[in-house]
Amino acid sequence: MTKTPSRFGYASGLACRECGQTYDLGAHYACSGCFGPLEVCYDLPHLTRDIIEAGPQSIWRYASLLPVPPGVAETPNTDPGCTRLVRAGNLARVLGMRSLWVKDERGNPTHSFKDRVVAVALAAATEMGFKVLACPSTGNLANAVAAAAARAGIRSVVLVPADLEQQKILGTAVYGGTLVTVDGTYDDVNRLASELADFHDDWAFVNVNVRPYYAEGSKTIGYEIAEQLGWRLPSQIVVPVASGAQLVKIDKAFRELSALGLVEDAECRVFGAQAAGCAPVAAAFLAGHDVVQPVRPATIAKSLAIGNPADGPYVLDVVRRTGGAVADVTDGEIVDAISLLAKTEGIFGETAAGVTLAVLRKLLASGQLDPAAETVIINSGDGLKTLDAVASAVPAVTPIRASLEAFAERESLRSRKADAA
Ligand SMILES: *Cc1c(COP(=O)(O)O)cnc(C)c1O
Ligand SMILES: [Zn+2]
Repeated sequence: MTKTPSRFGYASGLACRECGQTYDLGAHYACSGCFGPLEVCYDLPHLTRDIIEAGPQSIWRYASLLPVPPGVAETPNTDPGCTRLVRAGNLARVLGMRSLWVKDERGNPTHSFKDRVVAVALAAATEMGFKVLACPSTGNLANAVAAAAARAGIRSVVLVPADLEQQKILGTAVYGGTLVTVDGTYDDVNRLASELADFHDDWAFVNVNVRPYYAEGSKTIGYEIAEQLGWRLPSQIVVPVASGAQLVKIDKAFRELSALGLVEDAECRVFGAQAAGCAPVAAAFLAGHDVVQPVRPATIAKSLAIGNPADGPYVLDVVRRTGGAVADVTDGEIVDAISLLAKTEGIFGETAAGVTLAVLRKLLASGQLDPAAETVIINSGDGLKTLDAVASAVPAVTPIRASLEAFAERESLRSRKADAA
């Protein structure tokens, strides 16, 4: 590598995604001219597969493609990434597909892909002198922020809707830090966070005032998928959509890898998945609109319940450019899909995974996804955090006496049931 990294690595500046106006790297997130969101730009170094493969077993193997300081891998952080890409042969057979993979994000430190975005936000925020790590969250981000701040030895302030799953509330509180539950939807919580960010200028709200840095962390899912496929892009990918940042950044990662010559220049069709109870992007896609009309969420997929998604229009751009689609599925279809993934592959995903797999099924049935093309779906979180969603779909268990007779009785009951079925 001939270029020397600056304090944000090889990032060269920020650019408005609407009007293109450029800014120096720093704590800006909105364009002062048109209020459009800002995005990190790079002056990328020469990079080879060997250099990446020799790197750490975490997202930091791609540090030169992220807005993080040199030495980031040696600084206290949660070091997420390098999660498994699972060949889903059983599930593929059930669905009539030739080649299907599940990118299993449960392997991250707090069991969702949010550790990736938070790790990058923490590294950039510390570099910019922020003293507190904060966020509004639909749950998984809360876990990730509280854990990362604990490890970095700084304060966290986390705001969540009060009706969140217990697992996600306790799974945040355990790390210490300040946890505030708010009566209202995520969109109410998000508005409060923006107001707080305005007058606490040393608080880094990871997905608000340091959002350009945070969002880049999702690119690492795309890099890993390509590397794990042997430096190839899949032909199709299905990604859950809340704010839409994950989907947009996976596509950005694929295009960067092509531009760097690290993968063949192939097109990957990108598909977005939403729950019918919160499907503003799917609705805009179906209607052929460029603007996303906000909705009030009502779905069991709480991690995806963002009624006014910041990256919604950019999701539409990506799926239209790549020949993908955005679709939505009902809560019933979500629960069925969670069971199907668990029973075929031994992977217990959260509601967002149910949304993603159910959308895969729906788009295969409608002919929009090609069953013969190599496909990846994202399992973005852990089913152990959304137990209530499946409670009604799994059979109740009652205890037996500790005797062979009682066990034999239970077995014969089981085989009678199986015969009847
Ligand atoms: C946050 C979240 C998403 C969606 O992320 P966006 O980048 O906001 O679209 C998907 N799955 C899970 C489990 C999440 O927590
Ligand atoms: Zn602008």
